[in-house]
Amino acid sequence: MTAPWEVYAIRYGTHARAAQANFLQAVDFHDLPMPLDYFIWLLRSGERTIVVDTGFAPAAAAARNRPLLRTVPEALRAMGVEPATVKDVILTHLHYDHAGNLDQFPAARFYLQDREMGFATGRNMCFACLRHAFDVEDVVTMVRAVYADRVQFLDGDGEMAPGVTLHRVGGHTDGLQMVKVETARGAVVLASDASHFYGNMEREIPFPIVYDVGAMAQGWRHAKRLAGGDVTRIIPGHDPLVRARYPALEGSDGEVVCLHLPPAP
Ligand SMILES: [Zn+2]
Ligand SMILES: [Zn+2]
Repeated sequence: MTAPWEVYAIRYGTHARAAQANFLQAVDFHDLPMPLDYFIWLLRSGERTIVVDTGFAPAAAAARNRPLLRTVPEALRAMGVEPATVKDVILTHLHYDHAGNLDQFPAARFYLQDREMGFATGRNMCFACLRHAFDVEDVVTMVRAVYADRVQFLDGDGEMAPGVTLHRVGGHTDGLQMVKVETARGAVVLASDASHFYGNMEREIPFPIVYDVGAMAQGWRHAKRLAGGDVTRIIPGHDPLVRARYPALEGSDGEVVCLHLPPAP
């Protein structure tokens, strides 16, 4: 039996857009505002700290016109975490908004699926439609991390710490993985971009950035199985409702919410 984990969603950016931009198929509320939030996640148990995804840095924010609310290192320091000393970083996938800032984590080991590395460095990247959410500098940094023996590769499912398991889904990218974390309220599943919004999995309509629609659809059920059938324990990757539903961490101005605590009814 391991001590349960605390799980925090930490917002570092937001992007205003209309609803249709978030669904591959037509929705009747297409013109309503449906902003997209950018998060990283922090896992804590006793002395152990695990960072899930590393967000994007100011250069990418400027290049893609996605203003930061604060930098990821600032957001982590506000939680008492110094990025330079973090030992374990899970990367759900290598898109720019999940795998930037890697140079801020010089002591870290990165946990990544085999197929994500293959996807981000292989023939699919010859196509703008498949590579545009990757930043080649992040991918090159990961290649350097591989050569420095700082990457722990996974092939499918794997345990990275007691109570923390990783699960490849694919779909959105070929090697996207979800993170299942044991908390006091049961297993919480960080779906990341397996479901950008609650609405993608609830309506069973993919987000428009998708490599394999079938794998993405299977991923929603996979997340539900991992969450023991309790959909309230699945956390989408970009939904502002996450901050509305979960209790805010004191002193965070609502920018950090506690996923290990029950959501509002
Ligand atoms: Zn993504
Ligand atoms: Zn994303």
